[in-house]
Amino acid sequence: MAKKKEKYSPMMTKYLELKKDYQDAIVFYRLGDFYEMFFDDAITASKELNLALTGKNAGVKERVPMCGVPFHSATTYIEDLVKKGHKVVIVEQLEDPKQAKGLVERGVVQIVTPGTIMDLKLNEKVNHFIGALGIFDFCYTLAYADISTGEFYCMNLEKDERVLRNQIRTLDLKELVVNDDFADDSLMVTHYDNEHMSDRYKKLFEEVNDLKEIKVAVNLLNYMLETQKRDLDYIQPLAEVRQSDYVTMDPSTKKSLELTKSLSGDKYGSLLWLLDHTHSAMGGRMLKNWIENPLLDQKQIMQRLDMVEIFVNNFIERETIINMIKEVYDLEKLASRIAFGNVNARDLKWIASSLKIIPEIRHQLYALNDPVLNQLAEQLVDLSPITQIIDDAIIDNPPLVIKEGNIIKQGYSAELDEYRDLKANGQKWLTEFEEKEKERTGISKLKIGYNRVFGYYIEITKSQLNMVKDEFQYTRKQSLSNAERFITPELKEMEDKILSAQDRIVSLEYEIFSQVRQYIKGYVHQMQDVAKVVARLDCYTALAALAAKNGYMRPTFNDDHRIDIVDGRHPVVEEVISRQNYIANDCHLDAKANIMLITGPNMGGKSTYMRQVVLTAIMAQIGSFVPAKKANLPIFDQIFTRIGASDDLVSGQSTFMVEMLEANNALRYATENSLIIFDEIGRGTATYDGMALAQGIIEYIAHHIHALTLFSTHYHELTLMNENEGVKNVHASADVSHDTIKFLYKIQAGATGESYGINVAKLAKLPDEVINSANVILQSLLNNSQVSETLHQVKKQTVVVQKESEVEKALAAIDPMQLSPIDALSTLIELKKLL
Ligand code: ADP
Repeated sequence: MAKKKEKYSPMMTKYLELKKDYQDAIVFYRLGDFYEMFFDDAITASKELNLALTGKNAGVKERVPMCGVPFHSATTYIEDLVKKGHKVVIVEQLEDPKQAKGLVERGVVQIVTPGTIMDLKLNEKVNHFIGALGIFDFCYTLAYADISTGEFYCMNLEKDERVLRNQIRTLDLKELVVNDDFADDSLMVTHYDNEHMSDRYKKLFEEVNDLKEIKVAVNLLNYMLETQKRDLDYIQPLAEVRQSDYVTMDPSTKKSLELTKSLSGDKYGSLLWLLDHTHSAMGGRMLKNWIENPLLDQKQIMQRLDMVEIFVNNFIERETIINMIKEVYDLEKLASRIAFGNVNARDLKWIASSLKIIPEIRHQLYALNDPVLNQLAEQLVDLSPITQIIDDAIIDNPPLVIKEGNIIKQGYSAELDEYRDLKANGQKWLTEFEEKEKERTGISKLKIGYNRVFGYYIEITKSQLNMVKDEFQYTRKQSLSNAERFITPELKEMEDKILSAQDRIVSLEYEIFSQVRQYIKGYVHQMQDVAKVVARLDCYTALAALAAKNGYMRPTFNDDHRIDIVDGRHPVVEEVISRQNYIANDCHLDAKANIMLITGPNMGGKSTYMRQVVLTAIMAQIGSFVPAKKANLPIFDQIFTRIGASDDLVSGQSTFMVEMLEANNALRYATENSLIIFDEIGRGTATYDGMALAQGIIEYIAHHIHALTLFSTHYHELTLMNENEGVKNVHASADVSHDTIKFLYKIQAGATGESYGINVAKLAKLPDEVINSANVILQSLLNNSQVSETLHQVKKQTVVVQKESEVEKALAAIDPMQLSPIDALSTLIELKKLL
């Protein structure tokens, strides 16, 4: 006899039907006050979230594995799962269980994925981006958005996987949507393909002309719509990011310069840490973006500098505006919440209090009487209708929950007030009723109470129970160990009135709240625009306040490849060790002497010096004042650094290999407009090897690249080989007397002939025996002068380097993505001429 097929209960059958479409996600299935998970989902979630795994009878013999979380605290659990790399599908009850006939109707209301967490904290100074990738014949196209702020961007990238992965890292994407083959272990890659642009969102794409970018961005938007299952009207118009607008720096350069994080991974000690004196989350996010993307356009740089300068020079206005900005909450995210539908009453209060400051900021800006600031002031549009409605409708200090009433002010809605009166009268009636009943029955301990199951009741303790008489018309409802509970027709009648008033109040309050939200939704884009202006002002004033405090100066720019820094400082080091203790240094390089070779003892300040030059250049190009008495700089197109040991253990590359790869990067891509920093290149291999490589690199830069370059080394022999060849020899000075060494940190002209390695070792308290024998060995090595003789000869020989042809050079400089067809044709004609 065939075994009878087991059948799941109707609820479980429904569940399984729904789950079929979401195999790769964990389904949170709403049952009453809980979200339950079943089968494998339950097993996974119970492990990930440390929940008790139980079972549910579901019609079949074996209980189905189950675990659950209370609905009111689900957000943290969901975030936790998503952070651990899961997708969570939220299934809600779509009708009131009380009114449902048969099974309650349920459906998916949202899918939360790593890239689409909407419930992010306010006031965070970092973005949370989700990306979409398009792989085309000649380029990669990336679109990315922050669903919590509504920002939406796109860019084309060179078709080089390294470049693409770098960009993914830099943006710190949390999830990548692709319609093609692509894998990346560092983030969730989701396959999704829907490039249909719906009319509702057409206007988002109007500013962008590139069809590839539009396609990929549409796919991303559709994915967000698909997961969020609602309109996303707050998404901002797609903005094209042109990489060619910003200084090119690869991630290892950004990392080693500690732009946004120190090497240990913290914000402390980074350039961002130093510069970020912003007071709003929007400003913080914008400044981080500025630091990661220094500008190339001198006009834009000058504009930012002009703004910073105004605020440097106007202390009172600056402080006033800063104090106002402190009062502005994360308007960008609040605007998103309004449109997304997850705003609460307290958020509304924050919106109102933030927007009230805006006219005051506008007023302050006009007072400064500058054309650009006036323009900014004009963009701070009047949003008083929003503050008005919030002030009128929402009580002060409202609760976080929006569906339980107590959020709408008295006097805002006549209907609501009426029900509230009814409820209040009901309460009064109950107290009077209690008194009346006590009198009528003579039962002194008679009490009116309420519970959810039985409603209002009259409670009489056991001791007085014998006083209850038939004529009271009390109906027994519930027996407790020490009391009995009764009802009367009169009490039930009032109960109906009170409870329906309460129900009405709660639903009416929610209705009004939704109307208020709907009204404000009409202003979401204006709020976003205002938030952007506040962000800019926040950045300008923050940079200005820091410049004033630390005595930074406005940089100037030249286009003849010249660095002229007088009394420059390393902004982060001087902040940490205090300015008085920092030894300022000049830096002068130009097209003729474009390479600086820096020698000097370990710990003598060489890296600090080189870093301070790069950081000064970066600060200048983000529009900040710089830590120097005077700084005249070129505008650098790219910055390359090879600093310190950063073993790339993950990819299994040795320090030396990484060093060579990074050097290669600089040598291949740098132009005469670039800045190169090489810290002790070649030290990762044997001395002669390393020295020879270092020399080869210096010559290549000198003859072919002409980039301004700072090069520190321990090979003094290099300084001998590079006298008078466009190479400037300097050294970090130190005082050595009686075997002890004192670092002066002053960079001085000329090379130093000594390493002081043994002195430094002594400082580090190595055993005397080691120091003594090292000294003896050193002497004998120095006496063998053959080595330096040979090296001295090397510079006389010409080094033959395979030179890149003019055509190749010109080709390398072309960005085909930025060429119109007609430009492409004329470029081709130009190229042909070079043959
Ligand atoms: P090197 O690269 O020559 O080994 P570093 O640049 O790492 O030396 O400098 C070592 C330490 O010396 C720094 O951490 C800093 O504390 C200090 N230092 C460097 N330059 C200066 C300076 N100009 N003024 C004061 N202290 C400095």
